[in-house]
Amino acid sequence: MPETPHTIEADYIIVGAGSAGCVLANRLSADGARVLLCEAGPRDTHPLIAIPAGMMKLHRHPRLNWNFFAEEDPGVDNRAIHWPRGKVLGGTSAINGMLYVRGNPRDFDRWAQMGCAGWSYADVLPYFKRSENFAGSTDEYRGKQGEMAVEHYRTVLPLTDHFVAAAQQAGIPLTGDYNGKRHAGVGYSQNTRRGRFRESTAKAFLKPALGRNNLRVETNVLANRLLFDGRRCTGVELRRGGKTIVVKAAREVIVAAGAVGSPHLLQVSGIGDPAHLASIGVNVIHAAPNVGRNLIDHLSSLVVHRVQGATSVNQLVHGPRLAFEFAKYVLTGRGAFTFGVTTAVAFVKSREGLETPDLQLSFTPMSRDPAIHKFDELEREPGAAIAVCVAQPESRGTIMAKSKDAAAHPAIRPNYLSAPRDMEATLSGIRIARRIFSSPAWMKYSVSELRPGPALTSDDELANYVHTTVGSVFHPVGTCRMGGDEASVTDPRLRVRGIDGLRVIDASIMPNVTTGNTNAPTIMIAEKGAAMIREDARA
Ligand SMILES: Cc1cc2nc3c(=O)[nH]c(=O)nc-3n(C[C@H](O)[C@H](O)[C@H](O)COP(=O)(O)OP(=O)(O)OC[C@H]3O[C@@H](n4cnc5c(N)ncnc54)[C@H](O)[C@@H]3O)c2cc1C
Repeated sequence: MPETPHTIEADYIIVGAGSAGCVLANRLSADGARVLLCEAGPRDTHPLIAIPAGMMKLHRHPRLNWNFFAEEDPGVDNRAIHWPRGKVLGGTSAINGMLYVRGNPRDFDRWAQMGCAGWSYADVLPYFKRSENFAGSTDEYRGKQGEMAVEHYRTVLPLTDHFVAAAQQAGIPLTGDYNGKRHAGVGYSQNTRRGRFRESTAKAFLKPALGRNNLRVETNVLANRLLFDGRRCTGVELRRGGKTIVVKAAREVIVAAGAVGSPHLLQVSGIGDPAHLASIGVNVIHAAPNVGRNLIDHLSSLVVHRVQGATSVNQLVHGPRLAFEFAKYVLTGRGAFTFGVTTAVAFVKSREGLETPDLQLSFTPMSRDPAIHKFDELEREPGAAIAVCVAQPESRGTIMAKSKDAAAHPAIRPNYLSAPRDMEATLSGIRIARRIFSSPAWMKYSVSELRPGPALTSDDELANYVHTTVGSVFHPVGTCRMGGDEASVTDPRLRVRGIDGLRVIDASIMPNVTTGNTNAPTIMIAEKGAAMIREDARA
């Protein structure tokens, strides 16, 4: 392989080839502009990425995953929660659970009300549609012409049908498409999957653009710091092994390193809270106290049942059944190896008076042994669970560089459950999950509730269960918040305030988290961000 030149020049430099970065690379290189995409991880050739169920083994993969850990957090009984993030082409879209959820339309209307002009639902809907190729029936809400395949499950275990029926018996209406006209209600999951294979953004957006002469992709390079000429960002210093590579941007640098990586890179480059930068020995290029603040994440608490008379994924992944499922996957592209985690979801309100749902209840026809604490170890006996997630949490945390070394992991302090409302909503969600699991359609298949366990009924008992067992759903956002106010990190065109030639475009710019999973909205943000860059270049 030819040696990488010491200095590379491009029109646009994109840092991070994740959910957002791969979309940006495709769109910005579409009309001849020279684009350089820089990714800390390797190429996405590992077979576990392509096989949907491979996500179980990617969860702690030593090479394809950053394996961050949050600091010990009092809200979760002083546990240090594992934070997987993809470190490979495709980023976290290459290791995630593949659930495709856009969020509630009002989420985006509220972004606009918060000062993010141009981000109402009516404004963002065309960008959701532009990126997707939905295999279901389409209407004015869904796209067919985009690059990203979105499909329903190919194999649905009857337990999922029983959950959907039980939810309706518990008073939750059915929604045929939670990404369409009606977000609220219970419905079957949609996945970012093309037939039998995971559809990461690297597969959907980067691969088709790789033949373009004006797109260059550098893997295994860590962005060490951003380079400036006065208040203009002019390039990026990259590190590969012991070698430094300087890349110069004729037009713009776009940071798409994710909700952990983006604020971290800004901070070690001198954009952040001056007091924090002084504490780690970094000179201030631009005082931006909110870089790394406004961290929002989703948590989930499990209501788990032992089941009978129905097959759960647990039985499919042990003994000879596993070999059978693998053969089925190879021969037909169906079965357990095409599964993500969640097969049906319900968006519901934790209390009366709310305008839109604030809870996401995710059904999984499988159960893990809590004693093993391993994401990829399912119980041998059949089980199923509802993961109760407060989708609109009020708790806010921070991500702050611990030193000026870009390779050192930053301090992640989520301050989980620090807002009392978050626990109240969680307890309400657990009670709704119990109501669903007490409905006749489910009771036929239930042996008993395993966790929290029928003995735990009071608020205090359930709150203790939540504190000691709750886990992250891995949806950090908000750490480079966009806004109309001067205190926001980026303006609504995603330009970093106070610096020319620099944007942040990824999950970190969300002013508030969406009511759902965060991959689809991140892809939308990249679509819209790329369109704004191209508009501004023409102006
Ligand atoms: C286990 C797991 C399951 C999930 N399941 C779902 C799901 O089912 N559905 C859903 O919608 N969402 C899910 N998510 C969340 C979703 O995938 C993310 O919100 C989304 O991928 C974030 O996209 P991003 O572009 O902001 O960041 P990423 O996709 O994380 O991209 C950032 C990229 O930047 C690179 N990078 C970082 N720092 C540097 C640096 N200094 N130099 C060079 N490169 C750098 C990283 O290696 C990475 O490739 C899940 C997340 C996890 C971890």
